[in-house]
Amino acid sequence: MTARRIRNFSIIAHIDHGKSTLADRILQHTGALTEREMKEQVLDQMELERERGITIKSQTARLTYHDEAGRAWVLNLIDTPGHVDFGYEVSRSLAACEGALLLVDASQGVQAQTVANAYLALEHDLTIVPVINKIDLPGADPEHVKQQFTDIIGLPGEEAVLVSGKTGMGIPALLHAVTTRIPPPRGDKDAPLRALIFDSWFDAYRGVVALVRVKQGCLATGDTIALMHGGGTFRVTELGTFTPKPLALPRLSAGEVGFVVAGVKAVHDAQVGDTITHAHRPATAPLAGFRKAKPMVFAGIFPTDNAHYEPLRDALDKLALNDAALTFEPETSAALGHGFRCGFLGLLHMEIVQERLEREFDLDLLMTAPTVVYRAHLHAGEAVDVDNPARMPDPTAIAHLDEPFIQASIHTPSSFLGPVIALCEERRGRQLRIDYTAGEHATVIYHLPMAEVVFDFFDKLKSRSKGYATLDYEPAGYEPSNLVKIDILLNGQGVDALSLVTHRDTAYPRGRAMCEKLRELIPRQQFAVAIQAAIGAKIIARETVPALRKDVTAKCYGGDITRKRKLLEKQKKGKKRMRQVGRVEVPQSAFLSVLKLS
Ligand code: GDP
Ligand code: MG
Repeated sequence: MTARRIRNFSIIAHIDHGKSTLADRILQHTGALTEREMKEQVLDQMELERERGITIKSQTARLTYHDEAGRAWVLNLIDTPGHVDFGYEVSRSLAACEGALLLVDASQGVQAQTVANAYLALEHDLTIVPVINKIDLPGADPEHVKQQFTDIIGLPGEEAVLVSGKTGMGIPALLHAVTTRIPPPRGDKDAPLRALIFDSWFDAYRGVVALVRVKQGCLATGDTIALMHGGGTFRVTELGTFTPKPLALPRLSAGEVGFVVAGVKAVHDAQVGDTITHAHRPATAPLAGFRKAKPMVFAGIFPTDNAHYEPLRDALDKLALNDAALTFEPETSAALGHGFRCGFLGLLHMEIVQERLEREFDLDLLMTAPTVVYRAHLHAGEAVDVDNPARMPDPTAIAHLDEPFIQASIHTPSSFLGPVIALCEERRGRQLRIDYTAGEHATVIYHLPMAEVVFDFFDKLKSRSKGYATLDYEPAGYEPSNLVKIDILLNGQGVDALSLVTHRDTAYPRGRAMCEKLRELIPRQQFAVAIQAAIGAKIIARETVPALRKDVTAKCYGGDITRKRKLLEKQKKGKKRMRQVGRVEVPQSAFLSVLKLS
C-alpha cells in the first residue's frame, strides 16, 4: 500500500464521551467486524484475560476503507491508554499518528480531559479533527460545543464533524474527514529502518508482542533486528497487523503500523518508546523521546500469611513480564516477615499492581508506606541510595540527606492559577516561572520535592482546579533537604515496617498522629504498651495502652461449654491476624491505618 493512502490517527476524548462506542462504529462501518464478530471479539478478549491473567491492552486496528470514488484506504486507528498517569504511553501512541479525532459529547461540552488531550496532540504536531458526538441526544447542543472548540481550544469549531456513535449518523462524513484532513505519513522506505514501539505486552505463547509504527525503512519476517535502547538483537518470527483480528504480513514499510514478534522474553527488553532498527544496517540515531520506565516510588509488599511468600514471588514474576516499570527484590522485616521491596512509577501504578496481586492471584497482602529514594551522604565520604527507610544509615553516620526533586509543568486555566500556586507552595515548591499561553491558560513551572508530588498531589491538583489542571513532570536531580527518619517503638522495640522519612517541619505532628492512631488500634494486652515516635535517640511523641487482662469468656457464666469454646476459637483466629512485635501483639489493621495517615 502506498503511504499516500494510509492515515494513522487516534481518538482522544474525556472519559464517557463515547470513544469506545465510536471506535466500534468505525470498525463496523469499514466492515472490519460484523455485529456478531464484534460481540465475539469482546468475549474472546475477556476469556483470554481470564485464562492467562494478562490484559490485552491495545485496541489498535488497521481498517480498509473505500471512499465514494471507490478508492481503497488503510486507516490505522491507534488506541491510547485511558489514564493520564500513563502519560508517557499516551505520548508514544500519539507519536505514532499524524492526526487525532478530538471527541466531545454534544450534551456535556468541552471538559478538562478534552483540553489536556488537545494540548498533548498539538505538542505532537498532530492534525486535530474536532468531532461532536452523541448528537442523537435530546440535550445535544452542537452549536455551543463548536463555539467552545473555538474559544477554549483555539480550533476551528465550525469545521467540527457531527456524529452519533450510537446510531452511526455522520460516520461516512467522519471517515471522509480522516482521509482529506489528516496528512499521509512521510518517511523514506529505503532509509535504514526506524520503527517506534508504542505498546508492548507479554503473550504466554509468543513472548513479547510489540506494536510498532515504522517511521522509515522496511521491516520483514526473518530480519535480524536490534533495539536501539534495550540493546538486544532478535530475529523476527512474526509480523502482521490487527484488523482487529491478527493478520500475518510479510513486511511493514515506512508509514505502516503493525505488530512484531521476535522472541523477546519480557517487555522490559522491548520497552515502549524504544526504536527497532536492523542489526546489519542500523539507523544512525534512535527516534527522539525515549524515556526508560523507571520506578519512582518504593514500598514493601508482604503476604499476610507467611506461607504465601513463594506464590507472591511467582505472581510478581508474572506481572513483571508484562510491566517494564515494576521492579522487586526480596526484603525481610522483623515485624512483617519475608516479602519484597517493589518499585513503581507512581501511586496509581502501585495500586494497580496491588489490586492485580490480590484479585488475579488471590493473595492477601500488607504494604508498607510508599517512599521515594533518598540519598544519604555519609561522614565516611560515600553516598548511599535508600529506598527503604528501615535501612537508613544511623543518623550519627549521616553528614546530610538529599531528596529527589522534579520539575513540574502544570497547565491550568488562568482562573485556577491561585489555588494551583497555593498547592505548590504548600508542598515546599519553588516557582521557576509562569507562561501565559493561548486563550485563558497558563503553564506554571515549579521545582518540587518528588516526595510531595508522587503521593496525593495529582488528586489535590485535580480537585482544586475542578479537574482542569494537568500535570507533567520530569526528574530534576537531588538536593539536600532537612529530612529526618521517624521510628516507631513499641515497649522500646523498633517496628521497622513503620519507619518513614519526612521533612523536619512535619516530623513532630506526624510522629504524634502515628502514636495516637496506634493507641486506638492496638488492643489492650496483659501489660501496658508504650508507643513512642523517635528521631534517632530522641523521643518526639508518646502514648500508652493500659494493661488489661482480657477474658472473652468471662460473660459466659453457667454451663454452655460449646458457646465458650466457640468464643475461644474466635479469639484464636483473631490472633492470626496479629503481628508480634517483641511481646506486643499488633493487629494488621494498625499497620494499614498508620500508613494511610500520610
Ligand atoms: P468512552 O469512555 O469515551 O470510551 O465512552 P463509551 O464509548 O464507553 O461511551 C460512554 C457512554 O455513552 C456509554 O453508555 C455509551 O452507550 C454512550 N454513548 C456513546 N456514544 C453515544 C452516542 O452517540 N449517543 C448516545 N446517546 N450515547 C452514546
Ligand atoms: Mg472506553
